[in-house]
This record gives sequence, structure tokens and C-alpha cells, in this order.
Amino acid sequence: MNPSGSSNSPQSNPPKREPAGRGFNWWWIYLFILTFLLFPLFSNIFSSGEEITWQKFERDILPRKAVEKIVVVNNEKAEIYIKKEFANDSAFKDVLKPAFGKGESPGPHYIISIGSVESFERKLDEAEKNFSADERINVSYVKKTNWTWGILSWVLPFLLLFALWNFLLRRSGGMGGGVGGTSIFNFGKSTATLIEKQKSNITFDDVAGLEEAEMEVREIVDFLKNPETFTKLGAKIPRGVMLVGPPGTGKTLLAKAVAGEAQVPFFSISGSEFVEMFVGVGASRVRDLFKQAKEKAPCIVFIDEIDAIGRSRGKGAFLSGANDERESTLNQLLTEMDGFGTNSGVIVLAATNRADMLDPALLRPGRFDRHIYLELPNMKEREEIFKVHMRPLIMDDTIDIHFLAGQTPGFSGADIANICNESALIAARKKREKIGRDDFLDAIDRVVAGLEKKSKIISPEEKKIIAYHEAGHALVSWLLSRVDPLVKVSIIPRGKSLGAAWYLPEEKQLRSETTFTEHLCATLGGRAAEDIIFGEVSSGALDDLEKVTREAYMMVTYYGFNKKIGNISFYDSTGQRDMGIQKPYSEETGKLIDEEVRKLVGEAYERTKGILQQNKESLQKIAELLLRKEIIFKDDLESILGKRPETSVKKS
Ligand code: ADP
Repeated sequence: MNPSGSSNSPQSNPPKREPAGRGFNWWWIYLFILTFLLFPLFSNIFSSGEEITWQKFERDILPRKAVEKIVVVNNEKAEIYIKKEFANDSAFKDVLKPAFGKGESPGPHYIISIGSVESFERKLDEAEKNFSADERINVSYVKKTNWTWGILSWVLPFLLLFALWNFLLRRSGGMGGGVGGTSIFNFGKSTATLIEKQKSNITFDDVAGLEEAEMEVREIVDFLKNPETFTKLGAKIPRGVMLVGPPGTGKTLLAKAVAGEAQVPFFSISGSEFVEMFVGVGASRVRDLFKQAKEKAPCIVFIDEIDAIGRSRGKGAFLSGANDERESTLNQLLTEMDGFGTNSGVIVLAATNRADMLDPALLRPGRFDRHIYLELPNMKEREEIFKVHMRPLIMDDTIDIHFLAGQTPGFSGADIANICNESALIAARKKREKIGRDDFLDAIDRVVAGLEKKSKIISPEEKKIIAYHEAGHALVSWLLSRVDPLVKVSIIPRGKSLGAAWYLPEEKQLRSETTFTEHLCATLGGRAAEDIIFGEVSSGALDDLEKVTREAYMMVTYYGFNKKIGNISFYDSTGQRDMGIQKPYSEETGKLIDEEVRKLVGEAYERTKGILQQNKESLQKIAELLLRKEIIFKDDLESILGKRPETSVKKS
């Protein structure tokens, strides 16, 4: 019962993004260049004359002696210019009228396509044979090159390639985590989200149950508010604070609360956003982030999942090519942190759940020298967190916060926030006026085991197997005193599972060898019950067997519970060793470990079967009740088995 998951926090603000340099639209430039190139083409179109045939020219234009000159262009066409004095002549009025403005069009006014220059000259001579020398038309020859098409045919492919490249970059940037809409002009920019001071309205009031951590970060708030009190005495303020803890324990929340309390801007970025497909992007983003932060000082920079860049350098370098990029990003981060003065007003908060994986350089004094450990909340802290998240809810009097906190051991703050929200959704779906205790219990079940799937089709035979399987778990855990107390058993499919037994784990820091073995037996109870009742086993125990194997290996290799292996632990708290590649023990020890684990699980299985054989009648009764009611509670079990036996041995 240790679900993880994040919640949709009621306090989170819609963040304001400020990636610099994005206001300028490059498409304007493209449009400008294109218009510039196309302009001559259009101007040509506007000024070109009416296309006519030689016959029309010879019949209608030539005899009127209106032609001023003829220009033969590129030996292909003859451009005919009409004398200005014919502007009022009805035949030429239209062609002499300019496309824009006043006066007369400069021409050419008519165009004739000519087959060849020789035949054109011949025809003209023929047509003009009765003309006097003065009346003969001047003919000149020119060569014109159309630069527009020339330039376009060169530039257009480049423009197209450029546009395509830009488009692809945008696409890949969008998918690769560059949330700010990466384009080639800003992919080195930081994608940090900036929450301005007036918008960060989260305070320590919204953070519950993290008293010690809160005390530690209060000092930062004081510094950001009144730096002189500290600097006056020559004190140096920490530049970096590392928040370490499992997901959902409120690391981001605490950082936001610091910013909210101190009323300073808050930059938030995830470590993975530094890592892109381009080499050097990470480092340049770090540079940019700190540049922006310094401009806004005093402020807080929050780097979530810092392990994405801050993992120990050099480790596994031969395995991943991405290592170089991560290393240069980390180096840049270290340089930046060394670069700004202790009292510059930029404080970096970073969060991780794997502090052991981080590069020692990152943790040395002067960088992230303060470490604040956040843990999963205990009973009292859970009560506090429930209170915070129940503030906006409308609830009836049946809600008992103490009881709810008791039902949620191992839950993180995010899980509790999620339960509160789920319960409101469940109550709303039932069209209730107020949220009740049942809604909360349903929400807890849902968070633990997923949504009920009553529609899942299960045959009666399967249902019977599931009932006996769950009854096996229930009975064994009931009879073994060190297994956590049972709350309820259900054979309604939920999430991925077909049935489930709910336990209420007691919050203890130490577990004895006996507790471990009894736990193994309870987990094997389902398979053992199938074995006894049906004489064969099903695939339904996959999850159980996985758990049993993991625990059994932990008992032998980590906790030194095995006599033959002795008081030796192969646990690696630094996370530096890759167990998949190099085992820290010899081959013989490896074999011995496997043998001992198999023996341990085998013995636990035999013991479980023995317990069930002795109580076969009770097993059948529980299974039948389950088949009838689908869900049974502790009281139902008590009515069949009597009160749960208490041992004289103090539990641990
Ligand atoms: P982390 O950064 O440790 O993964 P978050 O700070 O993002 O976790 O927590 C997610 C949400 O869980 C928060 O927005 C908040 O609603 C809730 N939460 C977690 N811890 C606490 C707490 N101690 N008090 C109140 N709410 C909490």
C-alpha cells in the first residue's frame, strides 16, 4: 500500500513563461524578401502592351502612321510604341492610357511575336514600300535579361530548404521537452517557467507537516527579505539548498512557499529540460537561466529532478553517448554557481529523490551545501496535510481526519491531495450535497488499487479461483500475528488486479526476521490456497511471486538474515555500482544466494500450506462468503474465525 502519484494542486498558478527573444516573427523577413524579388516581375506585367498579330498591325495601325518606333527584343518579339499625339484618337486611347496615374503610358503599347528577325524585316519593308523616308518606322534591336527568374531559380530552393529545416526544428523541439516551443533562434535559451512575485501566493500555510524542513528554509526567506541583517555581520548565505525526498512529499511546494513568503520571483525548471538532442544546448540553457535570474535578483531558481543532469560524472561513460552533453551541462551549472557571489540574491533550490546518485562536486560547500530531507509523512503529519487540502472542500460531519490519516500509511502529500480531490469528484458523481466519509474511503481505495471494473467479464470458475486465492491471503495473514492487520478483502476487479486484500501497515522503522518470513507466508497464501483446493495453480499469483522473490533476495543479500551467507550486505547506498554488469560477489556466493533464496521461499510455502490444511474449513467459509458478498471486512472474518490471536511477543 504505497501508491505514488502526483496531484493536481489547488494552489498551482498558471505559470507565466518568459523565454526571451520570441516576440520577433521571422516570417516577415521571408515575406519581405519574396516581395522584393517578385516586384520586377509584377512591374513587367503592368507595363507590357497588348499582344496583337502582324495582320492586325499591318491592317489597323501601320496605315495610320501612328507608330513612333519598334524595338525588337531578344529577336523574339517586337514592341510597338505609339506616338503621343494619338492620345485622343479613339483607336489608340485605350492603349495609351497609363495603368496608374495621369498622362500617357510610356509603352510599349503593342507586342507582336515574331518568327524570325529576317521575315519580320521583310514583311515590314513590304508594308512600308509606299512610305516616304521620313515616314518609315525606326527599328532598334535590344537584348533584355529577366533577372527575376534567374534570381528566383537560385534563391527559391534555398528558401524552401530553410523553411523546411526551421519547421522540423520546431517540431522536434516541441517533442523533446523544450516546452517553450523551440525554434532555431532560441533553442539555447532557458525554458524555465517564471512565476512573478505577485503571482506566487503559496505560503507556509499551504505546507503541512514539514516542520523541520520549514524551519530550515525560513532562514532563506529571512535573507531574501532582509539581506542586511546577515551581511552586516559578515555572514554568507547558502547559494544552494538540496531538497531530498520521495516523489510527492512537497519539495516543489516548499520551494514555491519560500518564494511566496519572501515575495520574490520564482524560476522553475526541470533537470530534464536541459538535456536536448543538440550538443551544447544544456550548457547554454544553464547560462541563460542564470542570466535571467541575475536580472531578477533577489529571486529563487528551482531545479526539479536535478539528478537528470547532476548524476556522478564519468560513471557509465562508455555506455551512453549522452554522457558528454550531461557532463558539460553539469559543469556549466557548477561554474554558474561559483560565478555568482554569495550575496547576489539568487538562491538555487534543487530537488531530487536520489541524493546518493549526485556528483559530489555538486554537494560540496559553496554549492548545494544544505541538504533538507523530506520523508513520507507520519500519522500526525498526514492529519495536517488532510486539513490543508480539505480547506476548499464542502464536507459533512461524518469525516474523521484522524481515522483517514490512519487509513493512509505510506501515502505522500501528493497522494493525500489526490484523495481529497478524488473524494470530491466521487461525491459529485453521486450528486451529493456534501462529501462524506464513504467518498473518502472510496477515493483511498481508488488511489491504492485503481478504479473498480465491475464490467470485466469473469467466468464463474475464475471467480471461484479468485475467491479462494484472496481467502488464502486473508486467512494466513489473520493467523500469523506479525502480518499487518487486515482491513478488507475484495474480489471486485480493480485496475489491473482481479482481487485484493487491504492491510493497514503499522508505522515501524524496524522489522524482524520473523516479520519478514510471516509476510512471505501471507503473500504466498493465495497460491497455496489454490494448490490445496484445486490441486493445480493459476497465473493469478504473478504479482505475489514477484513480491516474494524481491523480499527473499533482500533478506539474504541485504539484511544478513541468512546463516550461510552470514552478516554480509551487498546493498549499495551510493548507487555507484551497476549490479547488472558487475556483481559484488563471487560465482559460488551467487549460487549459494540463489539456493538459499529458493530454500527460504520453499519453506515459507510449505508452512503456508500447512496452516491452510489445518484450517481448510475456515478457508472454505471465507471463500464462500466472498463469493456471495464480493467484499468482506474485518468483522466478517471475526465472525468466522473469532478474534485475531494476539501474541505474547511484542511485535516488531
Ligand atoms: P515533489 O516536488 O516532492 O514531487 P510536490 O511539491 O510537487 O512534490 O507535491 C505535489 C502536491 O502534493 C503539492 O502541490 C501539494 O498539493 C501536495 N503536497 C505534497 N506535500 C504536501 C505537504 N507537506 N503539505 C501540503 N500539501 C502537500
